[in-house]
Amino acid sequence: MGPRSMKAVVLRQSGGMEVIEMERPRAGPGELIVRMEACGLCGTDVEKIEGGYKASKPVIGHEVAGVVVEVGEGVESFRVGDPVIPHHHVPCYSCYYCLNGSPTMCPYYREYNLDPGGFAEYFRVPSWIVSHDGVLRVPDRVTFEEASMTEPVACCVRAIERSNFREGERVVVIGCGPIGLTFVELLRRGGASVVIATDRSEFRLDAAAKRGAIPVNSSRADLRSEVMRYTEGRGADLSIVAAGNTKALEDAITAVRRGGRVCLFGVLPAGSTLDYDMSNLITREVSIISSNAATEVEMKKALEFISRGVVDADGLITHRYSLSQFGEALLTFKSLSSLKVMIRP
Ligand SMILES: [Zn+2]
Ligand SMILES: [Zn+2]
Repeated sequence: MGPRSMKAVVLRQSGGMEVIEMERPRAGPGELIVRMEACGLCGTDVEKIEGGYKASKPVIGHEVAGVVVEVGEGVESFRVGDPVIPHHHVPCYSCYYCLNGSPTMCPYYREYNLDPGGFAEYFRVPSWIVSHDGVLRVPDRVTFEEASMTEPVACCVRAIERSNFREGERVVVIGCGPIGLTFVELLRRGGASVVIATDRSEFRLDAAAKRGAIPVNSSRADLRSEVMRYTEGRGADLSIVAAGNTKALEDAITAVRRGGRVCLFGVLPAGSTLDYDMSNLITREVSIISSNAATEVEMKKALEFISRGVVDADGLITHRYSLSQFGEALLTFKSLSSLKVMIRP
């Protein structure tokens, strides 16, 4: 292991992941090198490791915060020592998609990524990301772990906005992992009159109840009848799918009232199909809204929410592992008694 080598967790070409020693990246013109301080493990990372997720390039680790250690030629806005949150995907803000409400569908959005990814002692931030406002500064009172939660919180902020959530509404959140719990906090703080949260894990339901949701254990109770009890027999105005399975999607559809909205957030495994009578959607005028990822607009809002304590990012972290313990981190991620699993160098 030479002085310029480092540890990184990367995808193996044949599938799965491996912890390797590799050469530390260097900054080209317009680029930054960041020393990773914290990187959250996300469901899409696990999907990529297990081979199901093909929507973006095979790079893992994107919920990341760290310290600038090298500044490429021409970069004026950052200095060595700056604590930063580099976003892994940034749109161009000028194409048809960007100008017409779909910035995360911008052809440039998934074109760039951190190199070799966030699960590395050091990584390179491409000039596209640096020059397109894709690197935020960590405010004074925010820890690196909290800062690394900016990206997932930003995705939730955007999903709530896309769902046209309004104060006073009654909302069902399906799935109480870190994402579901973030939704619960944002909805409660945003003025939802009722938030019903469902999961099979008592541990996760407790966490939802502590954040102001009405917990429903989907393995013991009938979600639809529970929802009816809290919505004067109508059903919820909005349900948000924060779980990656088709049963969750069906539950979300049946939980909303006539004219209600269903927000799809949790990424389904590739090839998932729904065995559901779609005519119900039309006769009940149910709208399906999907939300994928976030831009700097929501990243800034999310960081503000985290720094003001609107979202208790720290309270969502239950486990911490080093890069060399990555395999163990994956096992913990899948257990129902964990919330956010954090990787530290
Ligand atoms: Zn993520
Ligand atoms: Zn664009």
